[in-house]
Amino acid sequence: MDTRLVKIEDIEAQNADIDLAASILKDGGLVVIPTETVYGLGGDATNPASSKKIYEAKGRPSDNPLIIHIATAQDAEKYAHTNEIYYRLADAFMPGPLTVILQKKDTVPYETTGGLDTMAIRCPSHPVAHAIIERAGIPIAAPSANISGRPSATSSEFVVEDFFGRVDMIVDGGDCEIGLESTIVMIKNDSLVLLRPGAITLDALSCVCEKVEISPTIEGVLGEDEHPLSPGMKYKHYAPASPLVLLDGNDEDVLEFLISEQKTKRCAIICYDEELDALEDKLLLPIGAKDDIVSHGKMIFARLRQCDKLSPDIIYAHLPDKYGLGLALHNRLIRAAAHTVLKIDKDYFTKGV
Ligand code: AMP
Ligand code: MG
Repeated sequence: MDTRLVKIEDIEAQNADIDLAASILKDGGLVVIPTETVYGLGGDATNPASSKKIYEAKGRPSDNPLIIHIATAQDAEKYAHTNEIYYRLADAFMPGPLTVILQKKDTVPYETTGGLDTMAIRCPSHPVAHAIIERAGIPIAAPSANISGRPSATSSEFVVEDFFGRVDMIVDGGDCEIGLESTIVMIKNDSLVLLRPGAITLDALSCVCEKVEISPTIEGVLGEDEHPLSPGMKYKHYAPASPLVLLDGNDEDVLEFLISEQKTKRCAIICYDEELDALEDKLLLPIGAKDDIVSHGKMIFARLRQCDKLSPDIIYAHLPDKYGLGLALHNRLIRAAAHTVLKIDKDYFTKGV
């Protein structure tokens, strides 16, 4: 398939490119669009054939539903049953990186919702995404634009790696500002259930709704017969080809451990800028200053993708704190590492494990 690759730097001047993307979507084609979270693999959410194409292109299991992107929060009325809490969330966080689960209307086919009576809805703030959705005049189903199981794509370079020749158009809108997928919440009576942490943090949600429960699947490992509220949570995600081990310890101990590991192993290290001088300059993948969690979020998927190209024996990264945006980073990394965490403390060195 021929794929058009178009970089959009000026929406007004590139009106014709926005039109082209919108008409491909209306005609049932697939267009990768930039959003503030990660790139999305877009298709007409009301067209079962488009949704089927999305699942095929991603290699995604068909019971893992798609998020439906709309131009304004009020557009949800056409596709879902809204309520007072939805509008409170919309006032506070839309457009932006929040996805809300609502009961679907018949305007959305089951092919898009993975067979569920509920649907996930989001109103992205990225100006290019907004312009394309508005111009198309249809809701756009857009899961993360990565082959299933690979890290989400946060720049057009990674989209091209996964989808060039497999979609009709790739719209390059630069690097994604957040770099982690949206926060997903489900409304349950007068409370919220957090299904996937993201840039809209637990604290921010708590300011809008007093009761916010955290779904156990965010941290736990599921038993074989368990069904999570968010089907995507049961699938292994973001696993790099080499084993990823998360290090839990104070800065000094972890650095000492990394220095000694570099002597005996080909290890890729997802590290903080402050550690660069002390480590040997090989296979180092910095994600920003230690305190700059926003930078860590923005860079983590690109670094995991780079790891696959380096084929190291092992990959090390710091275990993130679970506070604020850290909860989202922790959730992605703990799954990428298949829950492998190594505790590093003084005992670790004296035992010489
Ligand atoms: P992605 O599009 O790759 O960001 O993944 C979408 C996520 O949204 C997956 O984890 C899905 O399980 C979740 N999702 C989509 N629709 C629903 C729904 N109706 N109920 C619960 N989770 C959903
Ligand atoms: Mg995804």
